[in-house]
Amino acid sequence: MNERHLYPNPVSVNEAVEHLHNGDVVGMPTETVYGLAGLASNDDAVLKIFQTKGRPRFNPLIVHCADMTMAREIAEFDPLALKVANAFWPGPLTLVLPKKANARISDLVTAGLDTVAIRLPKHPMARRLLSTLGQPVAAPSANPSGKLSPTKAQHVIDAFGGAVPVLDGGACEAGVESTILAIENNRIILLRPGNVTAEMVESEIGIKVNLPDSGKIVAPGMLKSHYAPNAKVRLNAISPNSGEAFLGFGSAAFDGPNCRNLSPKADLAEAAKNLFQYLRELDAMGVASIAVAPIPIEGIGIAINDRLARAAADRTT
Ligand code: AMP
Ligand code: MG
Repeated sequence: MNERHLYPNPVSVNEAVEHLHNGDVVGMPTETVYGLAGLASNDDAVLKIFQTKGRPRFNPLIVHCADMTMAREIAEFDPLALKVANAFWPGPLTLVLPKKANARISDLVTAGLDTVAIRLPKHPMARRLLSTLGQPVAAPSANPSGKLSPTKAQHVIDAFGGAVPVLDGGACEAGVESTILAIENNRIILLRPGNVTAEMVESEIGIKVNLPDSGKIVAPGMLKSHYAPNAKVRLNAISPNSGEAFLGFGSAAFDGPNCRNLSPKADLAEAAKNLFQYLRELDAMGVASIAVAPIPIEGIGIAINDRLARAAADRTT
């Protein structure tokens, strides 16, 4: 603890670049959630990311690039991968692709796999950071492992007690982590749902998006319990039990200090944007349990239900 100093947060892009060049980690806004960034080529910086988060080492990190030139130095893009990248980058979509043999990426980033997860973020501040830095960063969400993802700079500052320099890029637009697609043998496989939905990919690219073969661990670290508040989470609730907080959606909502509505107009994009912030606010009330209204399992609602299922999962396993 002693060697850690407290930063006067938030920091500027130039200060963040300097911290990164020094091998330090930095809180970085993206359009999905805030990331905890470190130089992807630097073992010590990547180790610092895992240590700061308390993240298991077998859980690989997403590499964030400024542009396609940077991305193509790291990963092999076949024609299908190029088509998907051209259609959705920069944006809230991560591609898992074969890692180039000479990629300057710490093995800690990929947890020893021969594939790499890669993304071009759209957030203007992240883009400015990456282009000024001139090299890729590895960045998982900037939260202690297993806890709710941060969607505001203050969440990152609160989580790490000011021990991490943080860029303030405002509230995240998408609010849930990026969609992850693996592209292999001319197939697209959905590893994690997000704001870029399978339907969007299918209509843009014209081929089917597959789900992973069941039982096969294709995305290491997709742990069942994740994104969890301290309170228990009860799903598909019609109304709160006594003493329970309520997270509503559309007309399934209640009034009261312990109640929030993810989207009064039942808009799934708005609900995704509010999801982690509202879970945090209800959790901060110290309730034992948060009841959550049913969220339609369609479009971005698939990603919301995925995160809620993890928040509700048994934490003992
Ligand atoms: P995050 O916690 O948002 O950084 O998410 C990173 C997730 O991306 C990990 O939990 C993995 O499931 C997935 N991922 C990263 N690299 C790979 C890879 N090479 N192959 C498959 N999944 C990956
Ligand atoms: Mg995360």
